[in-house]
Amino acid sequence: MTTGSNRGAWLAWYVEAGADEAIDEFPVDRFALSGEKSAGPAPPTDPPVLPESNLVARDALEAAARELALSAQTLEDLAGKFAGFDGCDLKNTATNFVFGDGNPDARTMFIGEAPGAEEDRQGVPFVGPAGRLLDLMLAAIGLDRSDVYITNILPWRPPGNRNPTDAEATACMPFIERHIELVGPQILIPVGGTAAKALLNTREGIMKLRGRWLTYSTPRIEVVPARAILHPAYLLRSPAQKRDTWHDLIAIRRRLDEDGDAGK
Ligand code: URA
Repeated sequence: MTTGSNRGAWLAWYVEAGADEAIDEFPVDRFALSGEKSAGPAPPTDPPVLPESNLVARDALEAAARELALSAQTLEDLAGKFAGFDGCDLKNTATNFVFGDGNPDARTMFIGEAPGAEEDRQGVPFVGPAGRLLDLMLAAIGLDRSDVYITNILPWRPPGNRNPTDAEATACMPFIERHIELVGPQILIPVGGTAAKALLNTREGIMKLRGRWLTYSTPRIEVVPARAILHPAYLLRSPAQKRDTWHDLIAIRRRLDEDGDAGK
């Protein structure tokens, strides 16, 4: 347990080590992670533990986020309320709020993790290298952006493209839930492990989640079939995995054809 006095010691240590801005739940010693010796003084022995009052504050924040998100009746309304939400620190470091792209009436909704550098610059999801591969993946099954709707779990870029923390993802979850409810897709495609785990509320990794049909629901919408796919950024690094993704894409195409009306 971190006591009041050694919490003070931690703070003093951070300041001495040069931390002048808190943008993560806890500062990370990058020297220690890379195996190099830290230039600063040795840290106090206890690891920081989130005090109970912070957990209560987090619950209250989530409740406030939920109330705000649920009050939105249209996508435009949701975008405005989400952009004005101050409960996620990523807002302070991002350049742009990145909400969604594509066709809000689409049958298929793709949900990635968070904007990268190019998305942050343009304010549009999936427009960098991973986005260009996603466009090719869509084209491979006869779709383009006007046939699908695309968004992310988080609308603000994490600094340096680091993984979002649990606190950041939890704060934004009510908004993505409402986003899905307002789009009302027939098929949901979590893109990559972070989105799949958050949406499907599981600890299973993407390699176990992909390759089969799962389901997504909220208290307000019926069960939606979900098919998680590998993230295109990962496919750019590991092209051998494209084969498995091709099978997922074929399964999505088949499902759209089976459920099909005239739409894509
Ligand atoms: N990766 C994502 O998950 N989303 C984007 O918008 C871009 C890259």
